[in-house]
Amino acid sequence: MKHHQILVVGGGNAGLSVSSKLLLKNSKLDIGIIEPSDKHYYQPAYTLVGAGTFNINDTVKNEADYIPKHATWIKDGAASFDPEHNTVTCTSGAQYSYDILIVVPGIQLDWKKIDGLAETLGKNNVTSNYSFATAPYTWELIENFKGGTVVFTNPPTPVKCGGAPHKIMWLACDYWRKKGILDKCDVHFVSGGTIMFSVPEYLKTLEEKIEEYGVKIHLKQTITKIDAATQTLYYESSDEQGNVNKQTLHYDMLHVVPPQSAPDFIKASPLADPASPLGWVEVNKNNFQHTRYPNVFSCGDVCNAPAARTGAAIRKQAPVMVDHILAFMKGEKATSSYDGYSACPIPTEHGKLMLAEFDYNNRPKMTFPFDQAKPRWTMWLLKKFVLPWLYWNRILQGKA
Ligand SMILES: Cc1cc2nc3c(=O)[nH]c(=O)nc-3n(C[C@H](O)[C@H](O)[C@H](O)COP(=O)(O)OP(=O)(O)OC[C@H]3O[C@@H](n4cnc5c(N)ncnc54)[C@H](O)[C@@H]3O)c2cc1C
Repeated sequence: MKHHQILVVGGGNAGLSVSSKLLLKNSKLDIGIIEPSDKHYYQPAYTLVGAGTFNINDTVKNEADYIPKHATWIKDGAASFDPEHNTVTCTSGAQYSYDILIVVPGIQLDWKKIDGLAETLGKNNVTSNYSFATAPYTWELIENFKGGTVVFTNPPTPVKCGGAPHKIMWLACDYWRKKGILDKCDVHFVSGGTIMFSVPEYLKTLEEKIEEYGVKIHLKQTITKIDAATQTLYYESSDEQGNVNKQTLHYDMLHVVPPQSAPDFIKASPLADPASPLGWVEVNKNNFQHTRYPNVFSCGDVCNAPAARTGAAIRKQAPVMVDHILAFMKGEKATSSYDGYSACPIPTEHGKLMLAEFDYNNRPKMTFPFDQAKPRWTMWLLKKFVLPWLYWNRILQGKA
């Protein structure tokens, strides 16, 4: 069995930025990164791809070019954990032991939880920005839409980037408005959420957009089925007495965001939070140390910290987690603490964006010395040009 001082499961946003940060602190650390994919994806740009303003080919690069120089890439998938004996078994059957384990395999997209979705996704006017394969189809549909009923959905589970299910809706409405056909579009947002955005300062801006674009909002709804033949969406809600109210909506265009959860191999593992039906890894929400296995750490989309799941959150989580790992290795305790910071850049029209930044208490945490609840051209430039550059050139290298 091969041994690594630090074994990382997942070479995505969190896996690479945390590994790089550790190596910047100590280049002699022996780090193995288990990552099955040849490709690395910059997912935050999928929204712009779906809106016709970003090239899909610029969202993907070779994983090999971003694995830190002093780390070992184990091109395999993790399949199971034995944290009592500090080992991980991979899908190939290979086993690895570790001193420290970092668990960051991201989130699972549960397409099959909506009956009929997997069969029709990417065709028949059904699309999703949540997949590299179908984000370009979103733009094809928006560009060719002539009017009719268009539905954007949002599941009741947490999702990566809570704003992404409606970001594409604002950009689509703006495009149809500029084309002069918005009055022929009956736009619906069918969401499992109880509110459009949980920070009141930013919610106000979105409420103005709902009014301006004439969007019909349906909250606390769960999508159950898509019938591609009749272009019908099935959804339901339940009241406090448990009575289920089932409804249907005909669509001419449908943008779906699937329910999401921890990957199945995490759910089935001893690392999962027993109190969480979605199977997130159980950690201390301020330092990312596992609550039952102190040499295991996890941050990003897969952990149960109640932060919004974004790359922006990981940028603030990574340095805190690294501090605590290095202190733990020395038998010490670090004092740094993560406050739940996350950011959600919400484009409200082409060329204007509201940079929503907030913490665990849903309090705004604005970086810039102006009111970020107001959509701005400069923040659009940040999203379209600055953040992708930062991601590929600084964040994955642990330098930002
Ligand atoms: C449409 C969309 C819009 C978004 N918009 C924004 C935004 O505007 N701003 C923002 O900050 N964030 C945004 N995000 C969210 C952001 O992309 C994620 O929060 C971030 O990528 C999470 O990082 P992660 O490392 O936890 O997971 P990922 O980056 O998804 O990486 C997980 C890695 O684990 C690997 N893996 C999977 N299974 C295994 C296994 N069995 N063994 C080993 N490795 C495995 C995967 O191949 C992958 O490389 C958006 C996401 C989407 C989909």
